[in-house]
Amino acid sequence: MQDVIIIGGSFAGLAAALQLGRARRQVLIVDAGQPRNRFAQHAHGFLGHDGRPPQAILQDARDQLAHYPSVRLLQGTVAGAARTADGVQVELTSGDAFSARRLILATGVVDRLPELPGLQERWGEGVVHCPYCHGYEVADRRLGILALSKLALHQAHMLPDWSAQITLFTNTAVDLSSAARADLDARGVRIIETPVAEVAGAGRSVEAIRLQDGTSVPIDALFVTPATTLALPFVEQLGCAIEDGPLGPIITTDMFKATTVAGVFAAGDAAHAMHSISLAVADGALAGIAAHRSLLGL
Ligand SMILES: Cc1cc2nc3c(=O)[nH]c(=O)nc-3n(C[C@H](O)[C@H](O)[C@H](O)COP(=O)(O)OP(=O)(O)OC[C@H]3O[C@@H](n4cnc5c(N)ncnc54)[C@H](O)[C@@H]3O)c2cc1C
Repeated sequence: MQDVIIIGGSFAGLAAALQLGRARRQVLIVDAGQPRNRFAQHAHGFLGHDGRPPQAILQDARDQLAHYPSVRLLQGTVAGAARTADGVQVELTSGDAFSARRLILATGVVDRLPELPGLQERWGEGVVHCPYCHGYEVADRRLGILALSKLALHQAHMLPDWSAQITLFTNTAVDLSSAARADLDARGVRIIETPVAEVAGAGRSVEAIRLQDGTSVPIDALFVTPATTLALPFVEQLGCAIEDGPLGPIITTDMFKATTVAGVFAAGDAAHAMHSISLAVADGALAGIAAHRSLLGL
């Protein structure tokens, strides 16, 4: 039996494993290898790693963890997880099963992009979501915001700090109140309400938004805020409480990353309202320490 199984071996999961490996605990990480930012060539805003490819950061983390003999990383997908008398049991799609005294869920979230021609293939390059991750690189350029929900208004309020050339495409997803219009006007945001037909550009870059009336609006990058979903089957199976985050459901945790199910912790995007590498790493480290302390009865 392991001391701790960690489902998800990306920023949060590996950060948890590092703390537990240093505490010389037996840890099994099971990772399906699909970190959320795998579509982006560069990661920004993570202290000491700004501008590096996300996979290079993760590879460094895996290489460092390989020095800890009690930590094992297994490529695989967890299909189910359940409480047992003395801990948890997880089952992989391969049919293998493992048990542990504690479980950390670090499975991230999945972005649900709408079906719009030209959008999905540019995700992570010309189409981005986070001004803190990608805003600096497109500062002072022509930036579009494609509204998917009223969160677009939040983005439209923020983005003028990065560029004076902001266009909000409401695309029938938001009704603008007069207060919202006044706010956008004060921030210098142009509003286009004609529905969008296509995101256009060469390769993965964005060059224009084509509207349904045939007009083309030149832009250099497009911001969207997609809804997110959790790896729900085993979160529900375990009985962990789930709450509404700004983008979608997140696993409820206390200040030490314990879920509502004894012995089960959660960290990273799956259990945090704000999503970034820095926050996922901090969350994971906290979950790792908390899981260790709980093994000691603390
Ligand atoms: C396009 C894009 C670009 C981004 N750029 C930046 C940036 O520049 N800077 C920044 O700070 N943040 C950025 N982010 C946000 C960042 O990617 C996330 O905050 C971060 O990846 C969260 O880490 P995590 O470990 O919680 O989840 P993830 O990195 O998503 O990792 C979850 C891991 O769990 C695994 N997993 C899921 N289900 C299972 C299962 N059933 N069995 C086994 N394994 C499973 C997945 O395969 C994955 O490896 C970006 C996000 C996107 C979408």
